[in-house]
Parts: sequence; structure tokens; C-alpha cells
Amino acid sequence: MKLAVLLKSLFSRRTRRAMKEVKRLKGMIHMVDSTADIEIACEEAYRLLDEYADALLLGEDTAALLPQVKHHLEMCMDCREELDALLSALRATTG
Ligand SMILES: [Zn+2]
Repeated sequence: MKLAVLLKSLFSRRTRRAMKEVKRLKGMIHMVDSTADIEIACEEAYRLLDEYADALLLGEDTAALLPQVKHHLEMCMDCREELDALLSALRATTG
């Protein structure tokens, strides 16, 4: 009887640890997944958005100049909207 209780507590402790490990691994996998999909983070893309918009308006090759930003914009609607807003602001000021 006592042994059964001991085994049970050992098992649950080990299960808890295993669950924690699984959670940690899932977090890592998620991180790898999202970086593989978008490569650079929104903050990074946002930082380069000015440059990207300038290049775009000047008719430069953004795929060659800022491939990561271009790739990010293809994947991320938020940043695309940000770029659109920036482009219309730039067009309005430059005429
Ligand atoms: Zn983004």
C-alpha cells in the first residue's frame, strides 16, 4: 500500500517534469517555426521600412537591396499595411 503511494507520487512528479519539458520544447519549436516563416521580426522590418519605401519610390530593386524586408512584407500583413501608410505619406509629401 505504501509502495503504491510512493510510486504514484514518483510518477506524478516525473509526469509533471515531462510535461514541463514538452512545454519548453513546444515553445522552442514555435520560435523556430515563426523565424523560419518570417525570418526577421516586425521590429526589424519596421526599422528598415523607411529605407524600403524610399527604394520603392525611387524604382530601385528592393529584392536586391532589402531581400529580408521584402520577404517579411510578403508574409506579414501588419507590416504591409504599415508600408502602404508610409508610401502614401511619402507620395503626399514628395508629390
Ligand atoms: Zn511584420
